[in-house]
Amino acid sequence: MKNNAEIKLTIPYIQGEGIGVDITPVTLKVLDAAVEKAYDSKRQIQWQELLAGEKAITQGKKALPDETLAALENAQVALKGPLATSIDQQSINALIRQHLSLEICRRNITDFPGRASLLGREPLATYIVLRHNEEAIDLGPILVDHESLCLPTHFEQVITDTLSVSSHYWSKTHIQKLVEKGIKTARDSGLENITLVHRAPLLPQSEGLFLQWSQDWLEQNYSIRVDDQTAQGGSKIWWLEQEENKPLKIQFLTVESFLQRVVSGVSSSQVVLIYNRYGDAVSDVLAAQTGGIGVVPTGHFSSSQALFEPTHGTAPKHAGQDKVNPTSLILAGEMMLRHLEWNEAADLVQLGVKRAIDQRMLTIDLAKQVSGVTAVSCSQFGNAVINAIRNG
Ligand code: NAP
Repeated sequence: MKNNAEIKLTIPYIQGEGIGVDITPVTLKVLDAAVEKAYDSKRQIQWQELLAGEKAITQGKKALPDETLAALENAQVALKGPLATSIDQQSINALIRQHLSLEICRRNITDFPGRASLLGREPLATYIVLRHNEEAIDLGPILVDHESLCLPTHFEQVITDTLSVSSHYWSKTHIQKLVEKGIKTARDSGLENITLVHRAPLLPQSEGLFLQWSQDWLEQNYSIRVDDQTAQGGSKIWWLEQEENKPLKIQFLTVESFLQRVVSGVSSSQVVLIYNRYGDAVSDVLAAQTGGIGVVPTGHFSSSQALFEPTHGTAPKHAGQDKVNPTSLILAGEMMLRHLEWNEAADLVQLGVKRAIDQRMLTIDLAKQVSGVTAVSCSQFGNAVINAIRNG
């Protein structure tokens, strides 16, 4: 298990706003404990704090200081707490992703055996949800003076002074990159099912192309066998032949059909490829099945860099009270360790979280799902994870 290479790696992190103050220090301690246990002192993380959001503004800087962006540009990986978005400002989260060209967003949605047994049932299916970060995003409202704009008559009838038009775009290259990443992810994770989730019948000019361009790319690059007989949820099943592995099963489901299958429990473990426009909302629904957004980690990837963060936001009403669940950021750290191929430490983080949940060390969000459990604090949960790692 031990590896002899000596490595001191500097990893930048942003504490984040709201509950960032609670979950980030706990997470750094958990990751340090896992690295220490896995490699003694042969590998170490030197954490480098970068300012962003309120913490930057209180120190007289911009919400996203240039030095923060510069440090992120030079980093192979980084960890980030949640940052708030206000309606009249461009999102710092989106700015960072755009600046670093973090194209693909990945969410790992897994039910921990410990939690499933607390609830007296089998673990749910595992989903790895991938979507493209940079496309189908809101390009922002364009305030239009309707006098100077030629609009169809029915618009003219309902508008009196101004009209807010919002737009988004999509590209063949990026859609096909997402499908390629999905196939690689399924292989690397040992999953045999991929579902591409779309709304092609309703939005043929955008979602129709998402479906069409994905299928074109698959047909051009793989030997495909289409199975008409085993259609599920209205989708024919495509079997993608692979030389050394079992064929991958690919389905193309509308969002409605996919979610119906998920909530009725007929869905199996899989990689989900989804259009960015509603990928966030769908992955939150999947997260709700496995304990909520407090436990699901997120990673964002470019071809050379990766940023890891919790799935949830700043939850301002809970900020500074040491009571929320740090698991989402802890498991984002686990994803980061795996990305660095520090797998021994990543395994220990996962083991620590599972054992803490097994011991009924549950924060408010999970405790309210299990009868007879009193919630522990954020730091108590972190200490339980650390103890499990040290004894693991
Ligand atoms: P949120 O911060 O995710 O919180 C919504 C609710 O989810 C909370 O009130 C709480 O529910 C529960 N929750 C979230 N994280 C939790 C945790 N770690 N442990 C326990 N419960 C947790 O969503 P929001 O209130 O809509 O967003 C607040 C701000 O965060 C917004 O400005 C938004 O733009 C931003 N945001 C940032 C990111 C990011 O940085 N990537 C992501 C999403 C949202 P209860 O109230 O039921 O306890």
